[in-house]
Amino acid sequence: MTVGGWQPARVVEAVGTTPSARLLHLQVPGWPGNEAGQHVDIRLTAEDGYQAVRSYSIGSYGPGETIELAVDEIPDGEVSPYLVRDVLPGDELEVKGPLGGYFVWRPGGAEPVQLIAGGSGIVPLMAIVRAATDARAAASVRLLYSVRTAEDAIYRDELERQASNGGVALTWRYTRGAPGGWQGRVGRVDDDVLRAATWEPGREPIVYVCGPTGFVEHVADALVGLGHPPARIRTERFGGA
Ligand SMILES: Cc1cc2nc3c(=O)[nH]c(=O)nc-3n(C[C@H](O)[C@H](O)[C@H](O)COP(=O)(O)OP(=O)(O)OC[C@H]3O[C@@H](n4cnc5c(N)ncnc54)[C@H](O)[C@@H]3O)c2cc1C
Repeated sequence: MTVGGWQPARVVEAVGTTPSARLLHLQVPGWPGNEAGQHVDIRLTAEDGYQAVRSYSIGSYGPGETIELAVDEIPDGEVSPYLVRDVLPGDELEVKGPLGGYFVWRPGGAEPVQLIAGGSGIVPLMAIVRAATDARAAASVRLLYSVRTAEDAIYRDELERQASNGGVALTWRYTRGAPGGWQGRVGRVDDDVLRAATWEPGREPIVYVCGPTGFVEHVADALVGLGHPPARIRTERFGGA
């Protein structure tokens, strides 16, 4: 399911989900549906004709003409502050997609699935969690989600609900500050966290890692160091350091 060309998209809902991120629901007439893990390109055009294009993962999956994005504001960024602060229901954007055929999850595989997200890197992994849940495959899915603090976690409530209903096994990693009563340590994802919270290499999981470029490279290197074959690690880099 991949199409070319720019298509108009109408913002039907824009809701704050963390202090710096917003969920956007876009209606895209003729949208062909998308697989879990794909993304779109968004094009904005200013009145003087200046255009800016950025990629955004799709948090939703499957058929239907409405897609869900979650955009985290990068301070001083060109596009994300507009999408997080200014865009309103009824506004029109342009999208191209669905894009990407590598960072996708499809039902039917026998192997365990390890998801590792940093910050807004949760977005395509949320689509995978939703797809795996609907396919009754959530028991084979583990998610390690690294965020600055609990209030920075996009999809926090939905993930907690899923986990407490016996869905994906969820581990939080807080890098700046933990919620009250938290027993674990605070800091970035390291070998100890990976050993404790992920499928071991012997189980031959397929691993999806997504987030800021530095996070993804650090985690992917650490996974290889722990014995995961590089060919079993799929990465999506969102940019930045
Ligand atoms: C395949 C793909 C999917 C993506 N999906 C999402 C998504 O679901 N949600 C989302 O919020 N973003 C996502 N991104 C990132 C997004 O495309 C933009 O890069 C981001 O919104 C910043 O754009 P900007 O115009 O605001 O910043 P820019 O003006 O492009 O950059 C401003 C500064 O911020 C730095 N920067 C850019 N991106 C990041 C980043 N991700 N983290 C830290 N620093 C950064 C730049 O290096 C630069 O110094 C995705 C990127 C890719 C490639």
